[in-house]
Amino acid sequence: MTTVFKFGGASIKDADAIRHLTPLIEAHEDRPLIVVVSAMGKTTNKLEALLAAARSEDHRDTYRECLETLQAEHREVIEALFGDSSESPIKRVEALFVELDAQHRKHRREAYAKHYDQTVCYGELISTTIVAAWLNHSGIATAWHDARELVRTDACHQAANLDWAATAEFVRTRLAQNERVILTQGFIGGTEEGASTTLGREGSDFSAAIFAHCLDAQEVVIWKDVTGLFNADPRRFDNAVQLERISYTEATELAWHGAKVIHPKTLGPLQEKSIPLMVRSFETPDAKPTVIDAERRFDSEVASCILRENQVWVEVRPRDFSFMDEPRQHDILGRLVEAGLHANLIDSSAMRFALCLDDKPERLGPLIESLAGDYEITRQDELTLLTVRHPHSGMMAALSQGREALAERRNATTAQRLFHSRECPETWHIPD
Ligand code: ADP
Ligand code: ASP
Ligand code: MG
Repeated sequence: MTTVFKFGGASIKDADAIRHLTPLIEAHEDRPLIVVVSAMGKTTNKLEALLAAARSEDHRDTYRECLETLQAEHREVIEALFGDSSESPIKRVEALFVELDAQHRKHRREAYAKHYDQTVCYGELISTTIVAAWLNHSGIATAWHDARELVRTDACHQAANLDWAATAEFVRTRLAQNERVILTQGFIGGTEEGASTTLGREGSDFSAAIFAHCLDAQEVVIWKDVTGLFNADPRRFDNAVQLERISYTEATELAWHGAKVIHPKTLGPLQEKSIPLMVRSFETPDAKPTVIDAERRFDSEVASCILRENQVWVEVRPRDFSFMDEPRQHDILGRLVEAGLHANLIDSSAMRFALCLDDKPERLGPLIESLAGDYEITRQDELTLLTVRHPHSGMMAALSQGREALAERRNATTAQRLFHSRECPETWHIPD
């Protein structure tokens, strides 16, 4: 039975990191293996900056500079890995950069989201070309596949929706079960018309789950720079502890509320087929991983904390003395959906409807403009939303440390408070 591995940006950030993949894959060579790989390091952020420059008439020089820097960074990794070996993928990678440049010229006057997908996908196309060549060079027979020909989606660019039936058919028929390791891209897909699409930032975890679901895989392993899933981001909470085992449902809740370690869409396809997900460390592969499966017994054993930064609190009020009733709420939420935004916290009262949103200027700007046409709007920026799953008594007060919350919400399993970021500590501590 197939195992699916997913390597994110951090695990292939430079030549040394890529070398490190070899023993991890060799140790699993005895069974069919699909390796799903993201763009190297922070390449996707750099491709987004390149895209912004490409769309602006005034930034021709910045565009060239960004493109050349990105190309030089990849060239350096290839040279470190292959030297002047004939197996070097340098020619193929240079050709991908030429294609990327051509795609920018072709799409720069089109809608942002379409232009985004036709260009940002190159991060993964380039990284996988390098990693596949490296594995073959180190003696692991590896077949490279273009995920745009496997993962069939609609044309909802930047957040493409899967055509599961077509994807399952392509994955089953085009990924011939042979002796070789199969290597493909995370995050990207393609439409019937041949356009490239992306599944949303950090979407490679979801890609791994898609392949696993379609092939009834035995397990998925996500290799990270942490030993597993913790009860809070270990970079931000000084006493975060690793969770040994949690359910698909609990992991989805954590991811949905903003735990940046797994994409929230990952667990659904695995849960349907009872495929366990392991979160393991590529630095210390022998460390005990976190296991995510159907077992719910351990979900509420420890409280988990999640921070969402760069939040905006938007308060919407009717212009006259009328109620913020269901038709009005329906109208506001409809515009939110149209803007492609998601409310992280909602609060309503007789004449007020308030939403906590991610600060995504290209989406938030048009939404606020549209709402301001019909309602009174106020907004507060630079906020941090703290979410706690399974809080114990007194925990929210201890975490708040006297800070006033702009908004709060609580139900049986989850508590949330919204704070001014300037009043929040850089490093948090989970109260006993
Ligand atoms: P990649 O994209 O390379 O797969 P990510 O950077 O997306 O990996 O995820 C790993 C990072 O997630 C860790 O370095 C850690 O700081 C962060 N993180 C956030 N929340 C958690 C959590 N609850 N448990 C573990 N890591 C977390
Ligand atoms: N490279 C994409 C991103 O940075 C997808 C991923 O890494 O999961 O968002
Ligand atoms: Mg990631």
